[in-house]
Amino acid sequence: MPETTIAQASFDSIRTMHETTIQPDVTQFTPEIETLTAPIYERVRHVIPEVEWAVHAPLIAAINDLKRQRNAVILAHNYQTPEIFYGVADVCGDSLGLAQKGAATDADVIVLCGVHFMAETAKIMSPDKTVLLPDMEAGCSLAASITGADVRRLKAQYPGVPVVTYVNTTAEVRAEADICCTSANALKIVESLGTDRVIFIPDEYLGQYVAEQTDVEVILWKGSCEVHERFTGAELREYRKSFPGIHLMAHPECPQDVLKEADFVGSTTGMIQHVDKERPDKVVLITECSISDNVAVEFPDVEFIRPCNLCPYMKSITLPLILKSLQTLSPAIEIPQDVSVRARKSLEKMLAAGRG
Ligand code: SF4
Repeated sequence: MPETTIAQASFDSIRTMHETTIQPDVTQFTPEIETLTAPIYERVRHVIPEVEWAVHAPLIAAINDLKRQRNAVILAHNYQTPEIFYGVADVCGDSLGLAQKGAATDADVIVLCGVHFMAETAKIMSPDKTVLLPDMEAGCSLAASITGADVRRLKAQYPGVPVVTYVNTTAEVRAEADICCTSANALKIVESLGTDRVIFIPDEYLGQYVAEQTDVEVILWKGSCEVHERFTGAELREYRKSFPGIHLMAHPECPQDVLKEADFVGSTTGMIQHVDKERPDKVVLITECSISDNVAVEFPDVEFIRPCNLCPYMKSITLPLILKSLQTLSPAIEIPQDVSVRARKSLEKMLAAGRG
């Protein structure tokens, strides 16, 4: 799965060839725009119908033109829709990978196509860049389940017990925690602390999944992802019955009965790598549904059965909002300096312990 410059390379080459001046008319699917965006459409034609492309293409052309003028880079999470993922994103991946790759660019502006805590991670890792989130209401049920004050109360209740926070939390929460983790390295981080007990926030299911694999006592918080929580073990058994030979892959934010039925449990990046390595004939990714569309573009020989649990927060990011955000250079993420510095420390501790 490519993680960089998905759209830009083909866009740049065709643009140079035709030396086309893009007009900022974002409604007209002109022959010029059709030609300019044809290489992108070639990649996504089996997941985006032509009639939809006629709407997306003028916006994609305008965004790619404006991002060049702004010296901006567009980062898109794996759960973004294909027209964003393949149409305008320069970097695609999971939340931490996006923030790290965004920081490594010389862009002045980052447009984060994902949710608020991801944009905060990008800002923490790129404090001198302008970080835009096209919709400030793009939240997350997991991140919303806990506040900095809750973490302070937990620390008072369990003095001396370290707090491990999943990165799907606000900067304020991460500033109160001892160390961050991702869904890929949660077990490793819990065990890296060398203590008998840890407080694990906020995802109860990910915490349970870790607790099952370690002797460390894991004190849980009752947070959950409203998208992954909706899957059930019965649903997976039904897939197995209806599609003989299917490979079931689940995200560890899913409930325990789902994980027990899965053939593979892993992060979004882990799932993509697993599909790449194993090349199963038929697969179902038990996670947010846009990832199946995006991964299917890369692996046309694999049949993806697509359950559709949409994340409403991820889906609030759209091409018109991305364009508006680049035009107005807003809304921008701001984090108080002391919070940002402390939150960065818990991220850096995790990176020092090892990402994967
Ligand atoms: S999919 Fe779940 S964890 Fe991810 S942003 Fe949506 S609600 Fe949050």
